[in-house]
Amino acid sequence: MDQLLVALDVDTEVRALQLAADLRGTAGGFKIGSRLFTAEGPSVVETLVGRGDRVFLDLKFHDIPSTVAAAVQAASDLGVWMLTVHASGGKEMLKAAREVARGTPQGPMIVAVTVLTSLDTNALGDVGIKHSVTNQVNALAQLVKAAGLDGVVASAWETAQIRKSCGRQFTIVTPGIRSASEPTKAVGSSAERDDQIRTLSASQAIQLGANYVVVGRPIIAAKDPRSAAEKICRELMRQPTEP
Ligand code: C5P
Repeated sequence: MDQLLVALDVDTEVRALQLAADLRGTAGGFKIGSRLFTAEGPSVVETLVGRGDRVFLDLKFHDIPSTVAAAVQAASDLGVWMLTVHASGGKEMLKAAREVARGTPQGPMIVAVTVLTSLDTNALGDVGIKHSVTNQVNALAQLVKAAGLDGVVASAWETAQIRKSCGRQFTIVTPGIRSASEPTKAVGSSAERDDQIRTLSASQAIQLGANYVVVGRPIIAAKDPRSAAEKICRELMRQPTEP
C-alpha cells in the first residue's frame, strides 16, 4: 500500500533486507534512519534501490547550508526517493537542500521534520522553545512551504491544521502511529506507544490529511511483521483518502 512506509529501525543490513523481503508488496517504501545507516552505511540503501524499492532516507540533516546541500547530493546519488532535513535548520538551509534536489534528474522529495513526535510542549520548553507544539509545528510548516520544499514530517495531531494552512499539494508524512484499540486521544498504554507521545492510528492520520504514515515498531517488532503490515493496509483501505 502506497501510503504505508515501514521504518527499518534495526541494527544490521541482513535483518533489514529480511524484513524488506517479508514486507515487499505491503509497504509503499522503506525508511532507513540513523540507526541502520550508521551501523551499515549506504550499501543497504543501494541494495534496496537496486531491488526497485522506494527508500526514504531519514537522516534528518541539520547543518550549515553547504554541508546539507552536499549531503542531499550524496543521498540523491544513492537513488533515494525521499529524505528528511530538520525544518529548524532555517530557511537558507532548506533552500540549499531544495536547490540540489531540483537540479538533479529524479532528485529526491525533501520533507522537513517539524517537531519530533516524541516531544510535547514541556519538552520543547526544556530546549528553550516557549511555543506550544502546535504553534511551533505550524510556524515551521510555513517556513518549509516558503522555502519551496515538498512537505513536512509531523504528528497526526498537527496534520489537519498543516493541511489547511499549507494546501493540498504539500506532502505530509506522519510517524507516531499506534493502533486504534483504545479511543483515547493518545492511543494505547504508554508501553504500547513506546517513546512516542503524540500518537494516532494510521487511518486516523490519513483521514486528517497525511499522505504517508511511517510505522516502525508496531510492524517490525511484531511476531509476524507481514500480518501486522497487512492489518494496517486493510485499515487504510477502509478509509477515504481525502481529508
Ligand atoms: O517505531 P515507531 O513507529 O515509533 O517509529 C517511528 C519512526 O519515525 C522512527 O524511525 C522515528 O525516527 C521516525 N520519526 C518520528 N518522529 C518524527 C520524525 C521521524 O517518530 N517527527
